Amino acid sequence: MSKQVISTADPAGRPKRIERPVWHGTVLEQHPESPFLPTKDGPEKREIVLPPGISQSAFDAALSDLRGLLGPDFVKVNDIELVDGDYHAVPLSHDSYHILDPDDMVPSAVCWPGNTEQVSKVVKWANKHKIPIWPISIGRNLGYGGSAPRVRGSVILDLGRRMNRVLDVSVDNAACLVEPGVQYLALYEHLQNIGVGNKLWIDVPDLPGGSVMGNALDRGIGYTPHGDHWAQHCGLEVVLPDGDIVRTGMGAMPGSDCWQLFPYGFGPYHDGIFSQSNYGIVTKMGVWLMPNPGGLRPFMATFPSEDDHGNAVDALRPLMVQKVIGNVPCLRLGLQDATMDHKKTEFPLQSNGLLDRKASQKIIDKLGTGAWVFYAALYGPDEITQPKFDYIKRKLTEAVPGARFYERKDVAPTSYLHDYAKFTAGIPTWRELDRMQYIPNASHLFFAPISATSGKDAMTQADMCRRRMEQFGFDYLGTFFIGHREMHHVISFMYDRTNQEEKRRALACIRALIDDAAARGIGEYRTHLALQDQVAATYGWNNGAAMRLNNKIKDALDPNGILQPGRSGIWPKQYRGKNWEMWGGELRSHRRDQHL
Ligand code: ADP
Repeated sequence: MSKQVISTADPAGRPKRIERPVWHGTVLEQHPESPFLPTKDGPEKREIVLPPGISQSAFDAALSDLRGLLGPDFVKVNDIELVDGDYHAVPLSHDSYHILDPDDMVPSAVCWPGNTEQVSKVVKWANKHKIPIWPISIGRNLGYGGSAPRVRGSVILDLGRRMNRVLDVSVDNAACLVEPGVQYLALYEHLQNIGVGNKLWIDVPDLPGGSVMGNALDRGIGYTPHGDHWAQHCGLEVVLPDGDIVRTGMGAMPGSDCWQLFPYGFGPYHDGIFSQSNYGIVTKMGVWLMPNPGGLRPFMATFPSEDDHGNAVDALRPLMVQKVIGNVPCLRLGLQDATMDHKKTEFPLQSNGLLDRKASQKIIDKLGTGAWVFYAALYGPDEITQPKFDYIKRKLTEAVPGARFYERKDVAPTSYLHDYAKFTAGIPTWRELDRMQYIPNASHLFFAPISATSGKDAMTQADMCRRRMEQFGFDYLGTFFIGHREMHHVISFMYDRTNQEEKRRALACIRALIDDAAARGIGEYRTHLALQDQVAATYGWNNGAAMRLNNKIKDALDPNGILQPGRSGIWPKQYRGKNWEMWGGELRSHRRDQHL
């Protein structure tokens, strides 16, 4: 079993620690007999939140059954104090970035299966006892619900703690096979340790403590040409809601060597129904890696005015569609870069508490980012990247007067461009954590609509978001992550999680934005648990045909409704129409009029 605490020197030289999610606010130490026994006694005990419709005695009997299946040390009831921790030590007891009350989306218990067969056994156990279960790989899905289940009292399956091996790496095929608990940092270190780190690169998201599998399943993104994480997976092993185990694509062919090489196999291609869904628990996943391209040229372009992004995006579209730029570049407000290095109190503010954007110009000038800053990278030897760089520079300078270009040699050692160079080489960095110093008790939520790569759409979205956010007392700090044919417009809402009023305001503002966006035909790619019903309902063409299909699949695969009720707005028939959905205005996910 691999060690519980992965300590690493940040490639930037800052020593950091990274731990798997914690229990009792402490790391679960490895112990010869009881690997997951807390090392310290927890502080205050809390009353356990039982699964819906389950009595205390039925719950006790079910847990004793579960202990029999997994061993007593691999099952814990969630009666501990709710400690929010930090990125390095996120709790399993609740969503540490709670946007509702901290004790709202809490599990009744957590269990730690050790292999696929045990996962299947737990699924059968859940069917027998009619207890909802919620799998996590790592549980660092911060901003989207963390490790929390949508239905209070569900039992968490923490897959990552014991199922955390890189099972295979093929250097020639640039592919690997991972278990749920393989963190980005661990995959990076594994490739270094087996001596192929120079040949094979990974793609990392903003922070490297999450699971490669969990992020792909939730369709997260990164920075290299492999930045669409779901698109780079090849082959799954899945435990279905009845406990049956399937392998997709070539994995269904006994003896095949091509499971991680050809995603489709024969017949229907099922993989899609296992991402952002509640149709199965993934226990193995193939991932394509990036062969070392033989050179990297990261660069940034700055644009002087907040109105420049329309022209910039129009100029970028052909460069993206034609793959002149091959990675996932981003275009973001210079002000947003500034939040990494400055506390909110260091900015000039207006009387309503919002940033004084004009007066903040001095900070931006000092950083040298411009009103908008564009980061991208070109891959390959200089003979390839130099002409591409010159071409991109010419196109963007023609489109946006005053655009300036910088490479690493042109900027100060403290410039974000050096961190960006690591992202685009798939090297884990902690730089994005610096944003958390911006306000006290910082937590964040994201509003993340998809936009066409069109200047008009980008300007409409930025304008729509800025107006609505300012009305609710938040600063618009947007980033466009640019794909080959669309952009993920990711807007971070930072709030102080100890401030109830601010939390309510953030939630109400995102709800208003979801409606504003839907009225213009704009939909989000991913959202927090508390908002998934609302977002799912906006995908309502033909009177909700997509959700009718989701429900048909759910009813066929999960007749007892045990697997992740409510994920992505998909409710099992036992819950449907019984007020489990959250449409807005609720202060809690659970209400008196809910029943099973
Ligand atoms: P990460 O820590 O990588 O950000 P999480 O483990 O928090 O990811 O998972 C993100 C989301 O994906 C959660 O909603 C979780 O329920 C779902 N998920 C994660 N791993 C699995 C898995 N192995 N099978 C099915 N769903 C999963």
